[in-house]
Amino acid sequence: MIARNPCIANIKAGYLFPEIARRRREFAASHPDTASPEGRVISLGVGNTTEPILPHICRGLAEGAGRLGTAEGYSGYTDEGFEELRKKISEVFYNGAFAADEVFISDGAKCDIGRLQLLFGAGIPVAVQDPSYPVYVDGSVLAGAAGGWEGTGYRGISYLPCTAENGYFPDLAALPENALFYFCSPNNPTGATASREQLGALVKAARERGALVIFDAAYSGYIRDPALPKSIFEIDGAGDCAIEVNSFSKPAGFTGVRLGWTIVPKELKYSGGESVNADWARVSGTIFNGASNIAQWGAIAALDPEGVREMGELCDFYLENAALIRAALQKLGIPCAGGDNSPYIWAGFPGRDSWDVFAEILENCRVITTPGSGFGPAGQGFVRFSAFGHRPDVEEACARLAKLGG
Ligand code: PLP
Repeated sequence: MIARNPCIANIKAGYLFPEIARRRREFAASHPDTASPEGRVISLGVGNTTEPILPHICRGLAEGAGRLGTAEGYSGYTDEGFEELRKKISEVFYNGAFAADEVFISDGAKCDIGRLQLLFGAGIPVAVQDPSYPVYVDGSVLAGAAGGWEGTGYRGISYLPCTAENGYFPDLAALPENALFYFCSPNNPTGATASREQLGALVKAARERGALVIFDAAYSGYIRDPALPKSIFEIDGAGDCAIEVNSFSKPAGFTGVRLGWTIVPKELKYSGGESVNADWARVSGTIFNGASNIAQWGAIAALDPEGVREMGELCDFYLENAALIRAALQKLGIPCAGGDNSPYIWAGFPGRDSWDVFAEILENCRVITTPGSGFGPAGQGFVRFSAFGHRPDVEEACARLAKLGG
């Protein structure tokens, strides 16, 4: 029989979120009162959106579906995406700085993060912020970029600690030469958003060291402080050292609809001078047949002035949840980061094991969080609270958190 890909054997068993779901089921099975309204478990764990898609954007989706049933409106494969959508993304998010063929429409940021690895092949140095969104490391290991799991991290992946002490921004002196560096701002899980100066330092370090930054801006719609950059391309010089992935999942509630985009500037070149943009068109055209047309019509509506307003309203709703959670934790004296320009609150429990804190909050408050250690070694001693939830659930969870203080 054919042999298993050894890279699969290298990834750590059990993805974080299925493990949380397993523990939740186990808890419910041993606590029958979780079936009652008072005893029910409330999830502030995963980053899945909960609120309905707002009307203008939803109409865009419905009308898009309707078009497919007409001779004039029907469309088939769209390869890198509708030209109208690609242009609109450039105009709305990047002041028109990118040509349509630098904007690639995807079925989501996560999917493109996984596929992007194909551009670089096995054995390249990979660096991540620690803690980080799991697909950066797991995707890299699957692509053969590193050896297996060794207790606190993968061999061959550079973990750049992001801690309270360094303001959740890594020491860039530790960035390896010619590496692929995944950087996420606003950050999942820490909720920290990099300042203009910090991103300036990141671009400078990447250019000096020949690193390519994959900048994940999936939460840029949550930035409310006008001084904070929403894209790495707001920084001079980023065009020849960065790729940006983004998504309609979190600002428009498209987690189930599936639509994202990736910017690959034409000026970005490999060490041999070849065009990364041309390769991405070739690679993604080979293994991806384009995003759903219906989703793309929804995204076009999301980029109308009314759609942009609705996305802002939806993000504001979740940010209000975040403010409630953050206030409840701070009242208990628990140190927190994030929650202001991000839907995540990173709560510190120094000296504790993250899974123990997870279990304590589940046991005492019946609230699900995400253990920080699941995002990397520097996440130990933290849990992440997600602001994606219905308001009454968030309010109830915040009231229950008071039990942690007793
Ligand atoms: N990037 C980050 C940092 C995320 O937290 C998530 C989802 O939670 C994604 C990307 C996934 O985005 P998409 O739904 O577009 O695949």
